[in-house]
Amino acid sequence: MRRFDLVAFDVDGTLVEHPEDKTVWQVLNERFTGSDDQNRERLASYRAGRLSYADWVALDIGSWREAGARRDDLVRAFEPLRLVRGAAETTACLKRRGVRLAVISGTLDLLLDTLFPDHPFDEVYTNRIEFDSEGRIESWCATPFDMEGKAEALRAIASREGVPLSRCAFVGDHSNDLSAARIAGLTVAFNPKCAEIEAIAGAVVRSADLRDVLPHLV
Ligand SMILES: [Mg+2]
Repeated sequence: MRRFDLVAFDVDGTLVEHPEDKTVWQVLNERFTGSDDQNRERLASYRAGRLSYADWVALDIGSWREAGARRDDLVRAFEPLRLVRGAAETTACLKRRGVRLAVISGTLDLLLDTLFPDHPFDEVYTNRIEFDSEGRIESWCATPFDMEGKAEALRAIASREGVPLSRCAFVGDHSNDLSAARIAGLTVAFNPKCAEIEAIAGAVVRSADLRDVLPHLV
């Protein structure tokens, strides 16, 4: 017996942490443009409908490419970001119980591959960067599954896996998780950064260790 057949995770703030709660976008913008002020401005433009998500991704990654950032430079710049304590044990525990695991995130594929190379996720939805043979940024693919798209991804995965949404759980921390949080059978807000996710979550966990979500999931 298990409580959920599928558990989907956010990445920044949920599986990965920063001492000042910055996302990978803020960290890389700061490193390659000297400032992360644009994150706030671009989020506001996105919310106001003046900037599409894909254009926002292009502005950020395009500025790193202009700065000459290569794959190794990006990996080095991830330095203040860490896998949350207990993330590997938590996902391994769910996996052992036969739970299908997914990532639905607005992070970068390179961050997950760098910090959690042996991750057990069956499905991974993130933004993606392609590099050329010299490690230069060649192209990117903006995920359609951040913000409102997170719910769409959860629905699609659940349907493919033949799992009703009532048997899907979602673990996230912030406002870009709200759409998925609304439709999951249970949402665990892990160290929530906004009041809305706390309000709709079935459980709120404040901890330095992700294993503290397990009592709600197994
Ligand atoms: Mg997050």
